[in-house]
Amino acid sequence: MVDLKGQYNDIKNVVNPAIQEVIETTTFINGPKVHQFQKNLEQYLSVKHVIPCANGTDALQIAMMGLGLKPGDEVITADFTFAATVEVIALLQLTPVLVDVNEDDFNINIEAVKKAITSKTKAIVPVHLFGQCANMEAIMEIAKEHNLFVIEDNAQAIGANYTYKNGRKVKAGTIGNVGATSFFPSKNLGCYGDGGAIFTNDDDLAHIIRGIVNHGMYERYHHDVVGVNSRLDSIQAAVLDAKLPLLDGYNNARRNAAKKYNEAFKNIENIVTPITVNGCDGICDTCDCHVFHQYTLKIKVTNRDALVKHLNENDIPCGVYYPIPLHKQKAYLDNRYNEADFAVTNQLVKEVISLPMHTELDDEQIQFITSTIIKFING
Ligand SMILES: *Cc1c(COP(=O)(O)O)cnc(C)c1O
Repeated sequence: MVDLKGQYNDIKNVVNPAIQEVIETTTFINGPKVHQFQKNLEQYLSVKHVIPCANGTDALQIAMMGLGLKPGDEVITADFTFAATVEVIALLQLTPVLVDVNEDDFNINIEAVKKAITSKTKAIVPVHLFGQCANMEAIMEIAKEHNLFVIEDNAQAIGANYTYKNGRKVKAGTIGNVGATSFFPSKNLGCYGDGGAIFTNDDDLAHIIRGIVNHGMYERYHHDVVGVNSRLDSIQAAVLDAKLPLLDGYNNARRNAAKKYNEAFKNIENIVTPITVNGCDGICDTCDCHVFHQYTLKIKVTNRDALVKHLNENDIPCGVYYPIPLHKQKAYLDNRYNEADFAVTNQLVKEVISLPMHTELDDEQIQFITSTIIKFING
């Protein structure tokens, strides 16, 4: 699904000395590389504060802790996402409220969000799934009207732009009160281990969060709040700082691969290719509205699982993200849910298939993958 080795071979002359420098200076924790990466990422995202942390799941948890959410507060998020999003809500003893997503872009459905709001609702967590922003303008409007916090799960969309109706573009993850991202190796900006970060334009919130990631300390050995230990280590920061200048190029390579996939599947009945919704139709070169963390097809009529099996037999990697709606997962069952409210997610889990997507995909590979799929679909 990803080719981390191929990418590493291209950048080892930059990455190796950066890692070596951390080792030579033994600044493993909170070294200058962490600060340097933080500053460079703030500049790249045009956001006032980046707070690095240990992984994307921590980033979400710490964001929610920083906002002062309390047990019993309801937090609305998408039913169709990776479990980390709902996990941290539950872990903090907040009440997860899962809602359905859109059929076209897989992102949280605005009407479903509106319907789920109660007097206990305190926050919305849109997940920018597969590399494209949720409808942030609508979400921010709802949040304003009901006095809710917005926490963007930006683990899959780093570098993507969100385009407002008036044409203004901002980076994914910098629109809500706070954004969280992951630098897991297979993410669009991945390190060589675990890593994550929190973004915010709110000075007070940034201050609170900087304490939380460091055992609740604002002054050495004074613990004002209950915190956690969540750090991006200096070696990971060195890798990320070396890769950050390449991120736009990497995302372009992903978009190009997506375009080639789209072109190949264009006239194939029963294959629905992904669409981009924010301010452009088709996959344009200029607005960076989709960074294709995943390239995800919907397979109609043909049995998706049979296709998965066929691809596996032909040594073509593929993934099903996600095979089970979160509201049906044992850990997150809630008898308040009504199956009729999850019609889209319940359908998507049967239809979606994600194809290999990375910065090293070449035409020959794409040709082999697409022709194998088309042959199978056309029987
Ligand atoms: C990867 C991912 C996370 C978690 O990131 P980790 O760094 O693995 O903890 C959270 N949310 C989404 C949507 C993700 O894809």
